Amino acid sequence: MLTVVPTPLGNLEDMTRRGLTALEKAAVVYSEDTRRTRQLLTHFGIRTPVERYQDRDPRLIERILQRLAAGEEIALASDAGTPVISDPGVELVGAARRAGLPVTALPGACAAPTAVAGSGLPGDAFVFLGFLPRTPGKQRRALEAAAALGKTLVIYESPFRVRKLLERAAEALGSDAQAAFVRELSKLHEEWRTGSIASLLASLPEGGHLKGEFVVMLHPRAAREKTR
Ligand code: SAM
Repeated sequence: MLTVVPTPLGNLEDMTRRGLTALEKAAVVYSEDTRRTRQLLTHFGIRTPVERYQDRDPRLIERILQRLAAGEEIALASDAGTPVISDPGVELVGAARRAGLPVTALPGACAAPTAVAGSGLPGDAFVFLGFLPRTPGKQRRALEAAAALGKTLVIYESPFRVRKLLERAAEALGSDAQAAFVRELSKLHEEWRTGSIASLLASLPEGGHLKGEFVVMLHPRAAREKTR
């Protein structure tokens, strides 16, 4: 069985019991970041070997498929959150599915749905855009197309590009559209801001560098409240 195992985004208490059992039972844990995964396993007293996984290594994927076909338990982890979600893993899971090998995925830490849940923006339907294209024109067009769906948009962005993203969102959705972000979810400096795109932009330090990991959310409906 190939088991996709979410790992904490920051707070180790977010590691689930089922995730720990899967990591413990596995013959090997494949991970993009073996150092971080080994640290996690050590923290929980798990001695399963950790090997590096990369989507762009067909020979490695073939070897993993052979192990799965031989009946081995294999776990797939990423450095934080859920593998495959803006992280490596899709090639392995896809290949295992096509080969008819058993695959399961465990529920657990993932920044996008957690951010939506705490944002106050509609969560009945949302569009996860992952990382947007970086070029200004492509980014604005991606935002315009997604905004036309009339749903909450969820975007992963580096701290260095959050301001630019909000500026382009103001062009694509209008500066009074609803916006929110969470920074450093589940970590010591977790911070949430909600309001209009304009008020979020105004609340960011002028010219200063933002730090940490961000999920940015937008909704084409106009915001009613001030940033808080
Ligand atoms: N697979 C991960 C998941 O399940 O959320 C996402 C991995 S992706 C490479 C990394 C991006 O996820 C970051 O740039 C940020 O946008 C978001 N992210 C990850 N951890 C976060 C955190 N603690 N707080 C806010 N955003 C986070």
